[in-house]
Amino acid sequence: MGDRVEVQVAKSIAGHPGRVAVTDSSREVTYAELGAAAETVRHLLAGAGVRPGELVGMRMPRGWRVYAAVLGIWQHGCGYVPVDPSYPRERQEFVLADAGARLVVESGPGEGFVLTESPATDRPAVRAPDGTAYVIHTSGSTGRPKGVVVSHASLAAFLEGFVSSFAFGADEVWAQSTSPCFDVSLAESWAPLVTGARLLAVPERALREPRRLAGLLAEEGATVLSQVPTVFRYLLDAAERTGASFPRLRRVLLAGEPVEPAAVSRWMDLGLSPDATYHNLYGPTEGTVYATWQELTPPVLARRDTAGTPIGHALPHVDVELRAEGRPVADGESGEIWLSGGIAEGYLGRPELTGRAFVRAADGRTWYRTGDLAVREADGTLRCLGRADRQVKVRGMRVEPGEIESRLLACREVAEGAVVVVPSPRGEPMLVACFVPREGAGDDLAKSLSAQMTTFLPSHMVPARFVALQGLPLTLSGKLDRSRLEELARAGRTGSARPLP
Ligand code: AMP
Repeated sequence: MGDRVEVQVAKSIAGHPGRVAVTDSSREVTYAELGAAAETVRHLLAGAGVRPGELVGMRMPRGWRVYAAVLGIWQHGCGYVPVDPSYPRERQEFVLADAGARLVVESGPGEGFVLTESPATDRPAVRAPDGTAYVIHTSGSTGRPKGVVVSHASLAAFLEGFVSSFAFGADEVWAQSTSPCFDVSLAESWAPLVTGARLLAVPERALREPRRLAGLLAEEGATVLSQVPTVFRYLLDAAERTGASFPRLRRVLLAGEPVEPAAVSRWMDLGLSPDATYHNLYGPTEGTVYATWQELTPPVLARRDTAGTPIGHALPHVDVELRAEGRPVADGESGEIWLSGGIAEGYLGRPELTGRAFVRAADGRTWYRTGDLAVREADGTLRCLGRADRQVKVRGMRVEPGEIESRLLACREVAEGAVVVVPSPRGEPMLVACFVPREGAGDDLAKSLSAQMTTFLPSHMVPARFVALQGLPLTLSGKLDRSRLEELARAGRTGSARPLP
C-alpha cells in the first residue's frame, strides 16, 4: 500500500520546492512555502502538548493555509475535524465537543496560525481509532450530526486508485471548490498535491457567482474541474451568457448528486471544453470520497431505455456489491449498494449507529450499507436508482430531513411537524417544514421558526418554506401521509397566517 498522504506531499515538497503548489485569491504559494507553513502548525501542536493520535479541530477561511493546517496536523500524527466558520456557532461547538477536539487550528495574524481552545477542553479527549486521518460530520437522522471516521490507510488507498485511474499528473491545474467539511475536498486537495500539480483554491465569491467562477477557470487555465451537477449547470448557464469557454479542461468530474445528462450534453455540444472527458463519480463519505466512476460519453448520456443514473464500476480501493436482505442480487435486480475495503471505520463514539450501518457479513468482511439502491447491467456497470430512506441532497450537500424535524419539534410554538422535500421553482430540491402551531402561538411564525432553526442548522438545511396546518395528514393506517403532505407543502406559502386544512 502507498505512503500516507503527508509523506507523499513531503516528497512533492522535496522534489520541486520552487514549483507553485497553491494559487488562491491572495497569491501563489510554492511547495516549499506550503511545507514551511505545515511545519509551523506541527510546532504549535507539539508546543501545546497535543499527543499524536488526538483529534484536532480545524476552522479556517478558504485559502492556501487550509492545506498547510491539515498537513501540519497529519505530520504531528493527529487527525483533523473540520468546522466551517460560516456554520452556526452552536453546531461548530457541537462538532468539536462530539469529537473531543481540545484544540482548534485557526488562521492567525498575517499568514500565521493560532491554536484556540474548544468547548470540549474540559472533557477527556475522545480516543479515535489509531491512524485516523479525519472525522467529517454529516447530517444525522436522529437530530445529531454524526462523525464519519476515515483512516490514513483508506485515504491513501482511495487516492492511489483515483490518481492512477485518471492518470493525473504534475501538469494539472485543479480547481478546488469544496469546503473541508465535505469529503470531496480530500480528492480535490490531495490528488494535486501528491502529484506535484497546482491547486487553484476557488474563493468564496466565485462560488457564489458562476460568472466569476467561469472567468477564473478560464484565466487560470484549470485542467480539472470537479463540481456538483447543480453548480455545473449554473456554470453552463454563465458560460452561455458570457461566451466563456474552457479549452484547457481535460477532466470534468461530477459528483455528489445525480448527474443531469442534458446539461452535460449541452456543454459538449457547445464545445466548451473540446479536449475534456466527463465522469460521474458516486460515493458516500463512509466509502472514502468516491466509490465508483463512469465516463459520460454521448451514448451513455443519450440512453433513455433504462432508469437511474449511470455510476459505472468500483474504484480500486473498494469492492461493491448489490444486496437485498443481506444476499447478493442477480443482474438487473434492484439491491442496496454495499461497500467494503477502503471504507470508513464507523461513526465516532456511536457504536449502535456504526453497528447498524457497518455490518459484518457471512464472508467475514465489514460492509457499509449505503442506503442507495442500484441495478447492475449485463456488462457489469451500475445504475443508481436513488435512496432507500429519506436522505436528500441540497446542492450536493447531504441532508437528513429527520435532523431538521427534530429541530422543528424543539421549537416551543410547534405542536407537531414534519419536513418534506418538493421541487423549488427552479426545479431543485427544496425543504419545506409543515407544522401544526400550538394553541396561542402567534400568526406569523415562519420568521421566528426560521430564526430558531438557524441557531443550529447551516443555511442549506434551513427550510425555505414553513407551512402551517391544522393537523398533519394521516393514512388510513394512521401513519403520516407524506405524499399528501408534499401536496400541501407545494400549495402552502411561507408564513401562511391561516393554517391550511
Ligand atoms: P456524501 O456523503 O455527502 O458524499 O453523500 C453521499 C450520497 O450522495 C450518496 O449516498 C448518494 O445518495 C448521493 N450521491 C453521491 N454521488 C452521487 C452520484 N454521482 N450520483 C447519484 N447520487 C450520488
